[in-house]
Amino acid sequence: ANPLMFHLRAASLGREGALFATRPGADPVSYGDLFAGAERMAAALVSRGVAPGDRVAAQVNKSLAALQLYLGTVMAGAIFLPLNPAYTDAEVAYFIGDATPFVFVCDPARLDGVQGVAGRAHLLTLDGAGQGSLADLAAGQAGFEPIERKPSDLAAILYTSGTTGRSKGAMLSHENLYSNSLALRDYWQFTAEDVLIHALPIFHTHGLFVATNVALLAGAQVVLLPGFDAEAILTEMPNATALMGVPTFYTRLLSDARLTPDLAANMRLFISGSAPLLVETHEQWQTRTGHRILERYGMTETNMSTSNPYEGERIAGTVGPPLPGVGARVTLDNAEIPLGEIGVLEVRGPNVFQGYWQMPEKTAEELRPDGWFITGDLAKIDDRGYVTIVGREKDLVISGGFNVYPKEVETLIDDLPGVLESAVIGVPHPDFGEAVVAVVVPTGEGTDAAAIQAALSGQLAKFKQPKYIALMKELPRNTMGKVQKKALRETFAQLFT
Ligand code: ATP
Ligand code: MG
Repeated sequence: ANPLMFHLRAASLGREGALFATRPGADPVSYGDLFAGAERMAAALVSRGVAPGDRVAAQVNKSLAALQLYLGTVMAGAIFLPLNPAYTDAEVAYFIGDATPFVFVCDPARLDGVQGVAGRAHLLTLDGAGQGSLADLAAGQAGFEPIERKPSDLAAILYTSGTTGRSKGAMLSHENLYSNSLALRDYWQFTAEDVLIHALPIFHTHGLFVATNVALLAGAQVVLLPGFDAEAILTEMPNATALMGVPTFYTRLLSDARLTPDLAANMRLFISGSAPLLVETHEQWQTRTGHRILERYGMTETNMSTSNPYEGERIAGTVGPPLPGVGARVTLDNAEIPLGEIGVLEVRGPNVFQGYWQMPEKTAEELRPDGWFITGDLAKIDDRGYVTIVGREKDLVISGGFNVYPKEVETLIDDLPGVLESAVIGVPHPDFGEAVVAVVVPTGEGTDAAAIQAALSGQLAKFKQPKYIALMKELPRNTMGKVQKKALRETFAQLFT
């Protein structure tokens, strides 16, 4: 059998006529259509010479055909490798050189540029409407029996978001993917009755595996949107039951007056992840819709590791306890530390990846022989098992030899009047090694850096107080809503030198 395909198809076997997707402005798609199209993709890839274990890279816009390419690649026994359409040709060159895909699928508009960097990869095209040379090749195919694979064989290589450095290829096995999606389906109680608003990109673990795989495993219906669109989400909400989003989805929806408890009356679940959700957003969402957002935590390398409960208390500012079958612990200098203390979060379970593609040394540094993966996130675990992410180890500021956790300072700043949000970073300083710098987004005119400074002085030890406060219109974020602290550190690198 092909383990991942077996699980992804199980819920819809015998009900091929059931609706898989509705799409604004396009035809609805049944489960039968979805998988028939995926089989044609698989047959097309194999006709091009794709063999088990080959990488099939795709830098394409989100579409039904793109999802079918993912499924078809897995059926063909190959390894799916999606890339953010925003990556430039120069960036694509790195990924192609690193992953040496057998096939590279790109948007027709990008073909000229990609040709120069494609190396030996066979180039095929697919646009956002599902047209292109790959679609043409697939149209002539029919039927495909999924190729046999073992649970430990790779189904995908996903590159990390590149927030802290160069993106690394995380090798994900069939078992990594189906075990995690099955756990999530059951934990979040997804069934064939659900209608999930799917507005996330599908080059990232959140939209590709969490959203798509969970919906398929439940035999649920998705509203397939090409991207985030507040208008479309608000229009679809009365007929939907669930939404998965990054925190910026929720802050943007909150700014629309049409968001009311009535509009959200049919919804049973709002899920957030990929970046920290502000407690304030959590509270506002409850006031405006009557629903408590369920926040969960994961990484490209580990799929999802923790989640606030479906039933039971969803605690704002925490990412909940480990999922069933997943272990979590906090260490300092490789030794586990007591509950409640801050250290490096490690996770273990069937969700944890097989290592970094072609980076054995990096893999050995982060993945212990006994299966614990060192996430690089700083966290604490309370006595009920709830995990709180405090930030990334790489964002920790060490000023005058003392540790400053940016989140502690950010939380205080965010609570001040006139402040929308903030990011605290460390920049080189001749005396202190690093100095604390706060980048603050004001709510409007009249917010004053000196007043923020003064308000903090009574609340924080001197070494934690920002040595400089910069006001900015907005924080730099990537598509997944992650604040780009690396970019901020570069902007302010010369401040004290
Ligand atoms: P890179 O590893 O290349 O630097 P990245 O870590 O941002 O990039 P992803 O795998 O997309 O790449 O993101 C995983 C990270 O996202 C986690 O390590 C964590 O820091 C953050 N994250 C995910 N969910 C949450 C959450 N609910 N709260 C806080 N942080 C989160
Ligand atoms: Mg990472």
